[in-house]
Formats: sequence, C-alpha cells, structure tokens
Amino acid sequence: GARVISGMQPSGESLHLGNYVGALVNWVKTQEQYESFFFIPDLHGITVPHDPQFLRERTRNTAAQFIAGGIDPDRSTLFVQSHVPEHAQLAWVLTCITGMGEAARMTQFKDKSAKQGTEAASVGLLSYPMLMAADILLYQPDGVPVGDDQKQHVELTRNLAQRFNHRFGETFRVPEPFIPEVGARIYDLQEPTVKMSKSASSPNGLININDTDKKIAKKIKAAVTDDGTEIRFDREAKPGVSNLLSIYSAVTGKSIQELVSEYQGKMYGHLKADLAEVVVATVGPVRDRTQELLADPGELDALLSKGAAKARHTAAGTLAEVYDKVGFLPAA
Ligand code: ATP
Ligand code: MG
Repeated sequence: GARVISGMQPSGESLHLGNYVGALVNWVKTQEQYESFFFIPDLHGITVPHDPQFLRERTRNTAAQFIAGGIDPDRSTLFVQSHVPEHAQLAWVLTCITGMGEAARMTQFKDKSAKQGTEAASVGLLSYPMLMAADILLYQPDGVPVGDDQKQHVELTRNLAQRFNHRFGETFRVPEPFIPEVGARIYDLQEPTVKMSKSASSPNGLININDTDKKIAKKIKAAVTDDGTEIRFDREAKPGVSNLLSIYSAVTGKSIQELVSEYQGKMYGHLKADLAEVVVATVGPVRDRTQELLADPGELDALLSKGAAKARHTAAGTLAEVYDKVGFLPAA
C-alpha cells in the first residue's frame, strides 16, 4: 500500500483548533487509507530559542493529543523525531548537497530569521528544510500531507531526492505533497485575517485543545465580529463572521451554505452561543482523553518507544544505503 509521513511541531502550549481541524482530523482519515508515519519534530523545535523543560513537556503532551484525537499507535507509526537518530544523520548528508542560496531562499527562513535578526538566527533555522527533507526521505513515502505553508519545503525535498539519485544512483522515492483540498484554514479569533497559530496568536485569539469548556465559550463569545448584523460568508467584507462559520462547518461537517440559511435573520450572539457548544463537544472529549493519557506517562513513553523502534526499522535501511552510496567506510 501507499505510505505517507507527516509531523507537527511541539511549539506552543497545546495543539490548537487549527492544528486539529486543519491537520489532525486529516491524519486520522489518512491512517485508514495509507501506511502512516506520524512524528513530533523536536529536533526542529530547537531551531529557534526554546525552554528545555517546556519542550520535553510539550513533546509528551503533543503525543497524547495525537492519540486522543484519533491517531491509533497500533495502526500508525507514532514517534518522537529525536528518538530516531537517522533523521539528524541523513540531514547532514542532505545539507552537504544543498546550496546556501537555495536554503536562504526558503520563505519560512526569511520570515523567521527576519523576526530574530539575520545575525541572531541560527544555522539550524537555515538547515530546517534539509532536516525536514531527511524526515520525509528516510521513509520512502509516496506522499506528504502538509498545509500549503509547507509546499515549498516539500518542493525542496523533491529536488534534493532527485539530485541525490542523479549524483549517487537511484536511492530515494520522490514524494508528492498531499495538500488537503478542503483546507479548513482557521483564523485568529481576535484578528480574523491572520491564521490561528501557536507562535503568532494572542491567547484570546487561539482555541487550544487543552482549554476548559468555560474558556472556549469565553473566547468564542469575545471573538471579533464585523460591522452590520448579517450572518453570511464573505472573507473580504466579513472576516470575523466567515471564520466563525468555517469553524462551525469544520467541526460539524455541515456546509457553509447550510449554516448561512440556518442563521438567516439571527444575531451574531446566537451563532456564537451555538458555535461554543459544538466546539466544546468536539474539543472537550479530546482534552479529557489527553489528560487521562498524561496521567500515565510511563505507558505513553512505552508507546513512543515502540513507535521509534518501528520507525528505525525503516529509517536505518535507508540511511545504510545512503552512507554506502556516498562512500562512507562501513563500521566493522
Ligand atoms: P507555528 O506558529 O509554530 O508555526 P502553527 O500553529 O503554524 O505553529 P504548525 O506546527 O506549523 O502549527 O502546523 C501543524 C499543522 O497544522 C500543519 O499541517 C499546518 O498546516 C496546520 N495548521 C496550522 N495552523 C492552522 C490553521 N490556522 N488552520 C488550519 N490548519 C493549520
Ligand atoms: Mg506553522
């Protein structure tokens, strides 16, 4: 069967609603159809300044949220990136076939390094896409489910795979990006023209998967709406209301069209109250299940260790071939 791999960074306090409906829900469907590898990229997590204790906690929380959200660790291979040393090892080889200019052209690097100042930004941040290429190519996947923000990195991954194959002989499968067509993109509740994001949203603009029911309801109630009173979908003129409608649609599966006619003649307040209810009904059980899983960290760590062993089985095979192709003397 076809194989896919995808990861989600352990940045921020928790996964948020955008990560949940934009990525995790798709992953859960993906594992029904494909041989799936899902991982938590903690090596990527140190490309920007970070707090070690926080990273450790967040890595475990993210794993728990994946499982609570429906990733089945028996069916899929779920692991932590740093548990599989082949990621860093292959990244080095790929770094050596990447041009400096090629890496510096990546828009994520340009954005994130501009934020920190080019002098302060780490070389790790520049190498991020080569590590991501290693994450992918180690598993010889057919596809990589990513948001459209990661398309450029998948394109680089394909270039590096082709370049390596050309220079050293056929080694890597060249994967396709799987961009979900119904890219349920969720925007910040306080600033509905920018996407909800772990690193960029204000606490009130962000619905975290670990928020209490009360907090969720409060944030939705306080969401920025637009001038006028009409409930309709119009990203340009009514970004706030449109965002509420797309969240509603994403968590219930009802179409925007259906919702618009349902709320015809009703007030923003009605929409918000109902939305709070359906979001709580979706997020609440995931949050509660996460807490149950975190109550037994030993069990969770054991699952991750099993996942890493499964991942290494595949990763080690690819790396051995790469090491041989580039001419490293085998360790006796
Ligand atoms: P960061 O701010 O650290 O980049 P993020 O909130 O953008 O964090 P990522 O870890 O970059 O989250 O993304 C994880 C996954 O969630 C990706 O597949 C991404 O496309 C998806 N995703 C992130 N934000 C949203 C959003 N607002 N709506 C829909 N999908 C999203
Ligand atoms: Mg992001």
